[in-house]
Amino acid sequence: MRMKTILFAFCNLMIIQQAYADSDLLMTSDKPFVISYPDTPLPVEKTAAEELSKYINLSTGARTEIINESKLQKKDAADAYIGQCNYTKGQDFYVNKFKQEGFNIAVNNGRLFIYGDDSKGDAFSQSTRTGTLFGVYDFLEKELGIAWIWPGKSGEDVPAVKELHIKSFSRIDFPKYCIRSVMINEGAELKYWLKKMKLSWVPGAWFGHSWDSYVFKTGMDKEHPEWLALRNGERRKPHCCTANKEFRDYMVDRCLNSPGNKGKSIVSISPSDGYGFCECEKCHALDPQGTDYKTSIPNLSNRHWDYANYIAREVKKKNPDLNIGMFAYTAYAKPPTNIDKFEDNLYISFTFSAGYFVKPEMKEDIYKRIDEWKSKGIKIVGREYWGMHYWLELPYVFTAQIKDSMPYLYKRGLVAMYGEAHSNFATQGPVYYLVAHMMWDPETNADKVMERYYKAFGPASEYIRNYYDTFEKAIIENQGKIESFAYLGLINSWPEIFPEKTIAKAGEFLKKAEDAVKGNPVYEERVKCIGIGYEYTKVMIELLAVYRKLGRAGVPLWCFGYQGALAEASHYKLAEMPEAWKEFWSKHPDEPLDKSEKIKLLKRALELGNAREKIIYGQDGLPAISKGMYEYTLKTGMRPWHRTVKEELAKEGIKAE
Ligand SMILES: [Zn+2]
Repeated sequence: MRMKTILFAFCNLMIIQQAYADSDLLMTSDKPFVISYPDTPLPVEKTAAEELSKYINLSTGARTEIINESKLQKKDAADAYIGQCNYTKGQDFYVNKFKQEGFNIAVNNGRLFIYGDDSKGDAFSQSTRTGTLFGVYDFLEKELGIAWIWPGKSGEDVPAVKELHIKSFSRIDFPKYCIRSVMINEGAELKYWLKKMKLSWVPGAWFGHSWDSYVFKTGMDKEHPEWLALRNGERRKPHCCTANKEFRDYMVDRCLNSPGNKGKSIVSISPSDGYGFCECEKCHALDPQGTDYKTSIPNLSNRHWDYANYIAREVKKKNPDLNIGMFAYTAYAKPPTNIDKFEDNLYISFTFSAGYFVKPEMKEDIYKRIDEWKSKGIKIVGREYWGMHYWLELPYVFTAQIKDSMPYLYKRGLVAMYGEAHSNFATQGPVYYLVAHMMWDPETNADKVMERYYKAFGPASEYIRNYYDTFEKAIIENQGKIESFAYLGLINSWPEIFPEKTIAKAGEFLKKAEDAVKGNPVYEERVKCIGIGYEYTKVMIELLAVYRKLGRAGVPLWCFGYQGALAEASHYKLAEMPEAWKEFWSKHPDEPLDKSEKIKLLKRALELGNAREKIIYGQDGLPAISKGMYEYTLKTGMRPWHRTVKEELAKEGIKAE
């Protein structure tokens, strides 16, 4: 009896909730929708109004109109007020203080108000504050259900809305990280997508390798050879002697006065990339006793962080508002043991990848290190690798690791995040979509974000989810077979990470997806994009396995055998092969092949290498696989695998087409 009463009450409530009030915001196809913005709008306010207009029209079919506020017949005549309109400023809910890039979305008396923290400048620039535009995209995403799963029209999923009633509400939101950047630099549509993902790099901050611009390009290395690292008795680039006081003071001056640092809030003092650290007495004296300089990456944190802390302290004396940034990287990735508390104007760019967390010991190690850094009072900026070139555009999908680590890292005090990525949305798309959403709010519901992503494939959504899950599960299952995440270890592990059965299973899901969307051109195109990624993956995994066999049989393919290592060392004019390479190849000795087998494999490598090129250059404008890294290798002569195969065939008197 009681149950019935509750049920009855519940049903009534449902009915009440469905009733529409006059104070609801109404959107429907036959009611024109009038959008107003200030008379002299900022570019971001104008763009925000135009974007709202465009997507309301696409979604509901309503005719939309944008009118300057002073041209409205009555001041309350518009359906939506975008940016700092006078009418908005007169509302009870109006606030004018926002956190950086924050916004307010309000529905009140049947009208929509969106405004936020904006600055002058191009609305689609990553460095412009565009709170109002973020508010518009947030509204379109949450209230109209729109998703932008990748750049360009094909990634835009706009559900048709017949009639929409939105009750009064007011929602203030702001990004939890002050830098949120997925660093892709390919594709004309990219900047529009980055905005829709509410990504930005507003603070003037840089963490890059800095000595090139401060020291080498200015000729200071010639003037002060004693500032360079001492190597085998000689002063040599690319590293400097971080213990040299004169050099340190020069760096302080550059932080404060270098024209490139003007207006910046965080300026970099990061050492150069690569190895060749100083061997002078002063530097050695700062290293912990018993440091093993023979290992491939010695722990030289103490000397490097002593350098960083000194510069931060001296800079602060002259400009308390200027912050110093440095990578925590390679030989100085670990927290130092000779500093208890860092200067409060020192930021580290902490390099890691949640992609490595498939190995539990690596996750534990990174988490421990973050805690150690944090305990020394340093400010941590996460520097990620979401789709970097080590993955070779393959579907190295790790959404479970992102879902798990993002809220954790946020709670551990990360203040910003950025990471490498490529325009390879067919293989890494789910990763990019998820991290973009979780950088805005690391504690958002990741499952819901992914649900929305897959919904964009309509009747194929479950198949596409299963398709990516197949790769993600394979990575977790086979993580023990990934020798290491260093380039050599990883590139020689791909055929084990994605064995044939994984490729076949993913192919079955893709086939089902293709069948499910037949006759619907919008979904067909989206699935086609995924299909390009699949063809590429299939070709690459076989190709890498063939390269590995050939490399071990003495074909000089870089990274695939000892002869390849020699070829690479010779290309870079290395005096000696790096220890890490020697060690790797001593564990993986040559495995000779008989001549006919070798020729057969070379021919197959040629076919597959050609197929790879054909896929990369034939994507019909879809952002499936990045061209960038492949073109870079062609331009620089780095890892010239395809060329090596052709040359080897030529040696056998076989003409390569
Ligand atoms: Zn030194």
